Amino acid sequence: MDDCLFCRIVRGEIPATLVAETDDCVAFRDVNPQAPLHVLVIPRAHVASLNEAADAAQIGKLSLLAAEIARREGHAESGYRTVVNTGAAAGQTVFHVHLHLLAGRELRWPPG
Ligand code: AMP
Repeated sequence: MDDCLFCRIVRGEIPATLVAETDDCVAFRDVNPQAPLHVLVIPRAHVASLNEAADAAQIGKLSLLAAEIARREGHAESGYRTVVNTGAAAGQTVFHVHLHLLAGRELRWPPG
């Protein structure tokens, strides 16, 4: 998608602080972090949201890469949260599916 913000990050047209790259996924730090660790994990291929997702492996890889990053950054034991906002009412603002990885502070439940 030419004008998709996250597709542009995947192509290197917009700078981002990358934390991991695989054949299928890219992970980078959120520009407006909500926790000491706040990383976005996205598929390289454009999918607008979970509503349009059809590839189980593609979506599953987001979670596995998030777990690997959480381990690497020292949060596997203490805990972390992964969140996928889907649709405007859930707070989705960028319509390229992405998984938020949050850690490093107490995360309350239920979320706001
Ligand atoms: P959501 O609201 O679930 O769609 O999440 C979108 C996230 O993208 C927000 O947490 C934003 O802070 C983040 N974001 C927007 N633009 C950028 C950017 N250029 N680099 C990194 N994160 C971004």
